[in-house]
Amino acid sequence: MEQLRVLELYSGIGGMHYALTESSVPAEVVAAVDVNTTANEIYKHNFPNTLLLPKTIEGMTLNDFNKLDFDMILMSPPCQPFTRIGLQGDVSDPRTKSFLYILELLPRLNKLPRFILLENVKGFETSSARDALIKTLKECEYSFQELMVSPTSVMKNKTIYYFYVSYYSLYYFSQILEGFPKTSSSDATGTPTISNTHSASLSSNMSDNKDIIYKLETAQDLERKRSQNSEESIRRLQDFLEEEGQETDMDHYLLPPKTLLRYAMLMDIVSPTCRRSVCFTKGYGHYVEGTGSVLQSCSDVELESVFKSLEGLSEEEKLKQLSRLKLRYFTPREIANLMGFPPHFTFPPNISIKQQYRVLGNSLNVHVVAKLISLLVS
Ligand code: SAH
Repeated sequence: MEQLRVLELYSGIGGMHYALTESSVPAEVVAAVDVNTTANEIYKHNFPNTLLLPKTIEGMTLNDFNKLDFDMILMSPPCQPFTRIGLQGDVSDPRTKSFLYILELLPRLNKLPRFILLENVKGFETSSARDALIKTLKECEYSFQELMVSPTSVMKNKTIYYFYVSYYSLYYFSQILEGFPKTSSSDATGTPTISNTHSASLSSNMSDNKDIIYKLETAQDLERKRSQNSEESIRRLQDFLEEEGQETDMDHYLLPPKTLLRYAMLMDIVSPTCRRSVCFTKGYGHYVEGTGSVLQSCSDVELESVFKSLEGLSEEEKLKQLSRLKLRYFTPREIANLMGFPPHFTFPPNISIKQQYRVLGNSLNVHVVAKLISLLVS
């Protein structure tokens, strides 16, 4: 098979590029386009030989696109206009403008790309932007498939069959994330487990059994987590963790006392033996609630007993109890591992931890997209 010429739009830190490589489809990224300087610096650092166009997509002319002579578009348009926590501005959100511009250009290209893969969040499938996409695709006589992918289920045989039924020239899918945008945690193949980020606060309202067992969690919440954690085909979080060492000082990632006191009840706490976590979003390490799980790094202490003991304690005593758990943030490297980024993916030294979380929170699960790319092309 001849090498496909791939255009990577909204390239960020190159999640699509890694997925393409992992898919083993013979292909070459002929250009990557993104406007974010931090993401671009990271992309360049990891793909020094790929042409990276640091500009807005709307800033490219039809002729610029034609010159790239591509067979495939991989794209992850900004998802904030479509998320439940965003304002759902949809097509009226200025961040959707570039996407509408692509739709406008597509029919006018000298040569229509054979394959298009678009990735977005849950919420996109009901948007007007999606309707505009479908309309354009129909006009251009594409066949297409829309998929909701729960990253953990992708690797289970049942769901794989679901993918195999289609032979389309366009494969469009939208990642399912219950509650929050993008990336999440992982399983045996590094594919994310998806769960409700607001499990503590939301599902306790929704469950039939509203009695709180501890830490705002109901019997139902605890049972759901227990069942996710016993799914043996899924790898444990410990497989994705960094070794404490010269390069990473884990104390740096411990939750500060203020955060512990204020947010302990709301945080999703996981331990290294868990097989689940909530999605990591771009505010991780900075905003606590709903941005991703935190890790209980001292496993000798029982979570339940710590939380049950808090009632009536002074702040100081509470803090003492909570500190026993040694709760810390996952490091950016660990999140990258969970998202299926290869070990050779690195950040340039000048990129701050906060920036690393931010760009990772915008990216995607490499294993999931790799599978979809191979199915799309095969
Ligand atoms: N898939 C990417 C992330 C996509 S997030 C990854 O793996 O990292 C969306 C990206 O689109 C962001 O990096 C943002 O900088 C970029 N972006 C948003 N609007 C854009 C525009 N109008 N032109 C070019 N890039 C844009």
